[in-house]
Amino acid sequence: MSAGQQPGTLLEAIRYFADLDVATEFVAKLRWPHGPVCPRCGSVEHSYLSTRRIWKCKGCKKQFSVKLGTIFEDSPLGLDKWLPAVWLVANSKNGISSHELGRSLGVTQKSAWFMLHRIRLAMQTGSFDKLDGEVEVDETYIGGKARNMHPGVRKQKITGTGGHNKSVVLGIRQRDGETRAGVVSDVKRRTLQGHVTHHVTPGAAVYTDLHSAYSGLDETYAHEVVDHAERYVDGRAHTNGLENFWSLLKRGLHGTYVSVEPFHLFRYLDERLFAYNLRELNDFGRFAAALAAASGRRLTYAELTGQD
Ligand SMILES: [Zn+2]
Repeated sequence: MSAGQQPGTLLEAIRYFADLDVATEFVAKLRWPHGPVCPRCGSVEHSYLSTRRIWKCKGCKKQFSVKLGTIFEDSPLGLDKWLPAVWLVANSKNGISSHELGRSLGVTQKSAWFMLHRIRLAMQTGSFDKLDGEVEVDETYIGGKARNMHPGVRKQKITGTGGHNKSVVLGIRQRDGETRAGVVSDVKRRTLQGHVTHHVTPGAAVYTDLHSAYSGLDETYAHEVVDHAERYVDGRAHTNGLENFWSLLKRGLHGTYVSVEPFHLFRYLDERLFAYNLRELNDFGRFAAALAAASGRRLTYAELTGQD
């Protein structure tokens, strides 16, 4: 496909992918740049049944669609719904709710909810390289506001200790590089420093706040502490990048997701991290990145709802 044919806006994407032949070819080219490969046996020998948009493999003699082995597998919804959904999620500024997605696509809220979670799974970065150079580390608290809760749930939670239903999110950001964040079990020294050593190359410059859990990091890193109370920004020693990300994240959480179950919080985080890390790309670029990541990932309804 030439650059001039690429959709540039959501409306163009909806029109473009409304043609299932176009949508299928688009995903096939992205998934198999050198031609279709059987997801079951790896054979490249096949015939295409254009009326059904499926390939018949000459290796294992089975049929496969472009959806097999991707987040779209087993979904009765066509790529004409899925691709605009990926576009919407990859490019939403403050996140998108399942109600909003359902209305936009003309599918039920339940279907939209499942689509959202599958797309978020694709957006997980899955990068295992350690961060290096100048690295900011900061933690924040995220919790449902009582006024947004269902009355029964509120009654249950109010009786607990203050802040009990808050989740701790730890962020690690390489300046001019990737930002990572995840829900952590607590703010104990061993927990936080375990994540830092897992994600950051020894010897890197690490900037944190005064939290005592970070003391001792100077044994492994060039550790510098940011004292917010002093309103003191010593040239390089600040965590402004992460604080910027936290404010974007919280704007999305409070504005769009009325209540986020702690169980699902990490998926919302993945979505926001995806948008943040690819903020230099245009809408088509973010869409293509999310779609490329959609291959080879699967999430069942049971996994999502914890019914395993
Ligand atoms: Zn095969």
